[in-house]
Amino acid sequence: MLITQLKSKEAIEALVKGKVVIINCHGCKEVYFPEHEAEELQKELAANGNVTTVVTTDYICNPDHQCLQLKKHMDKIADADTVLVFSCGVGVQTVASFLEDKKVFAGCDTLPLPGFQGVTPLEFDCGRCGECYLNYTGGICPITACSKSLVNGQCGGSKNGKCEVDKDMDCGWERIYRKLEKLNKLDTLKYPAKVRNYNHPDMVSEDN
Ligand code: SF4
Ligand code: SF4
Repeated sequence: MLITQLKSKEAIEALVKGKVVIINCHGCKEVYFPEHEAEELQKELAANGNVTTVVTTDYICNPDHQCLQLKKHMDKIADADTVLVFSCGVGVQTVASFLEDKKVFAGCDTLPLPGFQGVTPLEFDCGRCGECYLNYTGGICPITACSKSLVNGQCGGSKNGKCEVDKDMDCGWERIYRKLEKLNKLDTLKYPAKVRNYNHPDMVSEDN
């Protein structure tokens, strides 16, 4: 199981530039989603006049369902500078995969919670790392798309776009680079990779 928690208000505000479409996922009722906190924060963001649409749906991790949802709001999405998604890491990755030319950001971090994992076959995976990197990596998870779960890739071993650990797998960091190149956001790769302190109960990062 997993649990989502909001990123800090400052972190989210820094993402909100220009016109913003917000997508909330209230799909997994059996896991905790900070609905009330997200709603309050979104009201504050909306007061600044940047938010053009708020879409609240369920199971955005289901690609077929999500494709239909996005189509319904495509005029607003096409006009937006940013799509801000409040869901677990799987949901954000699903939205980002449909909106190749759009900046798709995560409003939440995803953490592990002991219990039943669920059996839905999903296209994307989230390692529930506790500090979502999708906002730096073009919506592609470096924890699950890279065989070494590098947060400061790439490792240098990929060949012809394939991972050195698994030749049948595309190198996750090459995918991240290509995506950021397409978004003209390669400067994002200069983000300070932080070392996580796994001894801390809240998995808070510490600067090198
Ligand atoms: S970076 Fe990957 S593993 Fe970590 S919360 Fe985001 S999607 Fe999940
Ligand atoms: S080749 Fe790419 S995906 Fe494979 S371990 Fe290295 S950086 Fe990660």
